[in-house]
Amino acid sequence: MRNTARQAVPSETAGNSPEPVGIVDLASEHRFLGRKLKREVQRILETGQFVLGRDLSEFENAFAAYCGVGYGAGTNSGSSAIELALRACGIGPGDEVIVPAHTFIASVMAVLNVGATPVLVDVEPRAFSLDIDLAAKAVTARSKAVLVVHLYGQMADMGALEDLARGHDLLLIEDAAQAHGAAFRNRKAGSFGACGCFSFYPTKNLGAAGDAGMVVTSNASLARRLKRLRNHGRSSHDRFVEVGFNERMDNLQAAILNVKLPNLEEWNDRRRKHAALYDRLLAGLPLSLPEELPGRRHVYHQYVVRARRRSALAKHLESRAIGTAVHYASPLHRQPALRDLGPLAGRFPVTERLAREVLSLPVHPYLREKDVRRVAREITAFFG
Ligand SMILES: *Cc1c(COP(=O)(O)O)cnc(C)c1O
Repeated sequence: MRNTARQAVPSETAGNSPEPVGIVDLASEHRFLGRKLKREVQRILETGQFVLGRDLSEFENAFAAYCGVGYGAGTNSGSSAIELALRACGIGPGDEVIVPAHTFIASVMAVLNVGATPVLVDVEPRAFSLDIDLAAKAVTARSKAVLVVHLYGQMADMGALEDLARGHDLLLIEDAAQAHGAAFRNRKAGSFGACGCFSFYPTKNLGAAGDAGMVVTSNASLARRLKRLRNHGRSSHDRFVEVGFNERMDNLQAAILNVKLPNLEEWNDRRRKHAALYDRLLAGLPLSLPEELPGRRHVYHQYVVRARRRSALAKHLESRAIGTAVHYASPLHRQPALRDLGPLAGRFPVTERLAREVLSLPVHPYLREKDVRRVAREITAFFG
């Protein structure tokens, strides 16, 4: 009823109470899939298959196939996925891992948590991923791997990264937590590195009803080791062959993700459609818009603009009931937890600048075209 009433009064003329446009809308997603999801939850409760059940292996196979690789190991979060990938690849104390300076902090913490040394490298200003020339300069005799992050839903330049990795004998590991379904020259995120690490945190392009993650790989023995490490180092019922962890994905989360996975392509397409409309409607404003670089399929986990007057713009949108977010407001090298890494301010000029300018606009699949148009209109009004 309320929705009908609201539709009768178009939001543009509703004075100072415009219809809210959220930065995420998980309720709509779950309303759409409600009946199927409830049936799955009910089934898991009735069968009691909570840990390492058939739903998990089904989801591992289905998601690995979606990424174009042979194997998947479900984990209890994206952060554990990265940690387990590093461990399964034998990376630990004494090893250096090159990581972009502009990313979610979990990428760097995973490296620290396995005892290795993260070497932060500034990003390039177009796809906001690792600056390859700087990465090459950061290579030392102790460098073991590059942890590339496909930030905001667009893949890094995997051609150049593969060359770099080959040239310096480095492992390539992908943090694809924001890039489910993104592609580089028609190959999907997660299929380039020794391991591809995904998060199914609820707001990601594919989200569970809680925490979950996965490592995908095309290497059968790595896959075996990943599944062992996440399960106490267990190789069979009564045999524990290495020191491991309890970092399994719940079977319940797998069942929920099995319901959602068939919708991922359509959800990504809708994000892309919203992004294309923003591109058109926001062109010409004093904003820098995200670019989809040649040969890449951007899945717009975030639609990130850059604005000199970011906080005034965000405040204006908030006053018009439009949600925005900043990914990420404080550069990693300024976070108290990472202070001991020692890099000085100013060594990451692009990262510093992004931290001041980036603003994520609503781009989730359950926006309507008129929501995108209203966001664009409010932004235009702000600059007008
Ligand atoms: C979300 C995210 C992670 C961590 O995933 P969790 O499931 O929240 O642990 C890691 N890296 C990036 C880039 C992310 O966006």
